[in-house]
Amino acid sequence: MFADFTLHYARLPARFFEPFRPDPVAAPGLIAFNDALAEELGIDRSGLDDERLAALLAGNELPEGAEPIAQAYAGHQFGNFVPRLGDGRAVLLGEVTDRHGRLRDIQLKGAGRTPFSRGGDGRAPLGPVLREYLVSEAMHALGVPTTRSLAAVTSGERMMRRTLEPGAVLTRVAASHIRVGTFQYFGARHDAEAIRLLADHVIERHYPELLPEAAERPEGERYLALLEAIQRRQAALVARWMSLGFIHGVMNTDNTTLSGETIDYGPCAFMERYDPATVFSSIDERGRYAYGNQPTLIQWNMARLAETLLPLIDDSEERAIERATEVVQDFSAIYADEWLVLMRAKLGLTGPEEEGDHDLVDALLAAMKAGRADFTLTFRQLGEVARDRAAERELLSLFDAGSGIEAWLDDWRARLAREAGDSETIAAGMQAVNPLYIARNHQVERALSAAVDGDFGPFETLREVLARPFEAQPGREAWTLPAAPDERVFRTFC
Ligand code: AMP
Ligand code: MG
Ligand code: MG
Repeated sequence: MFADFTLHYARLPARFFEPFRPDPVAAPGLIAFNDALAEELGIDRSGLDDERLAALLAGNELPEGAEPIAQAYAGHQFGNFVPRLGDGRAVLLGEVTDRHGRLRDIQLKGAGRTPFSRGGDGRAPLGPVLREYLVSEAMHALGVPTTRSLAAVTSGERMMRRTLEPGAVLTRVAASHIRVGTFQYFGARHDAEAIRLLADHVIERHYPELLPEAAERPEGERYLALLEAIQRRQAALVARWMSLGFIHGVMNTDNTTLSGETIDYGPCAFMERYDPATVFSSIDERGRYAYGNQPTLIQWNMARLAETLLPLIDDSEERAIERATEVVQDFSAIYADEWLVLMRAKLGLTGPEEEGDHDLVDALLAAMKAGRADFTLTFRQLGEVARDRAAERELLSLFDAGSGIEAWLDDWRARLAREAGDSETIAAGMQAVNPLYIARNHQVERALSAAVDGDFGPFETLREVLARPFEAQPGREAWTLPAAPDERVFRTFC
């Protein structure tokens, strides 16, 4: 099935993983297969009927050349360090080279109890598998770096969660599954040799632009540059989340990739009414990973990564700490720049003005908070207003009275008057970055519960809707709307 199936991670020293063969499921059944992604990965499914395909995607049958492994990693979970987590229910089959020449991991999630399973059953319920499928593909369509979903299959087994639920296996595709927690695993074991091997693997795989330079620089500088480059990607990633109202929900260090892709779609959600304190995750009791905390928390995770790299940066620990601290302290400025670029585009501002743009964005957010306005629809409707002033009524209807949005609109218009393009160009630019369709919680929940009852129709429709988030889809207005009061979802579960 996989052309160019290769093994890279499995060729690292044995202490990086545990060999683990997926535990066959009772009755694999194909639910979803991502043809576009399959094509990108050079997968040839001709000659494979649905039954064979499902058997391969459930781990009941292994692709030729696979040496399946469970990867070792540690991680800070809600701020508490756990020295050994690892893949408790996921199996890396190996890597493929995609059509762009990039290496991509093929992983089965829900593949059985591994040596890292601790108390867990190694399985994944259907609901969360479909949630990850929908939301990761929606994020990709929104232009956010993310792990992808190649397929979902049912297992024909049931498992105990909040209720008895059907089981499933997700085929996850990632630039790699290397996490901050992978470095922490070796950091906790004072295994500097493993950290160096892992860092070199990460440079080669994700930051090859550092290679030529690296050869000329003192060695410590190479790893400092790596830290800087990883931090830059994470700052850009979280800025994108923030610009879309996305709340990850579990930003533990084991859920922060070195590639800069979003990973681990557990209790994630898109915010509707704008409020930085918004939390959906049922396991985030103290709101550590609230929407507004995400930039600070990713910086905290970068500091944890930096700690593991210290022995590579300088022989003198004191000097290493000094240099790494300088890098991590730069995060705030890098993040603020990334964020402002995205927010300007959302407001139709292409000729940046140093004075005032940041305040203009902040003032809009303040009005949105006061007016309890829907995050996604506010920006989308602003694009409509840029095109045609008559759209203003509908925009105002998104805000509770007393928000101050009218005064803000005057300021925005005055600012837009200094833009070069005509109103149509400005509006088109805005609507290319302000989505109309996001994975709204109530729609996702509806699709998942129908699927659990055996009806995959709503899942299929939502999948189609979310694949084209920036174009109006006639007849699908209902998917643009926030939850009605009786549909509102307050808690998400992983
Ligand atoms: P997560 O919260 O998804 O990032 O997972 C945290 C850790 O728990 C990871 O080491 C997972 O592999 C492990 N884990 C999650 N669910 C299960 C499960 N059902 N069985 C075994 N391990 C699990
Ligand atoms: Mg995880
Ligand atoms: Mg998870």
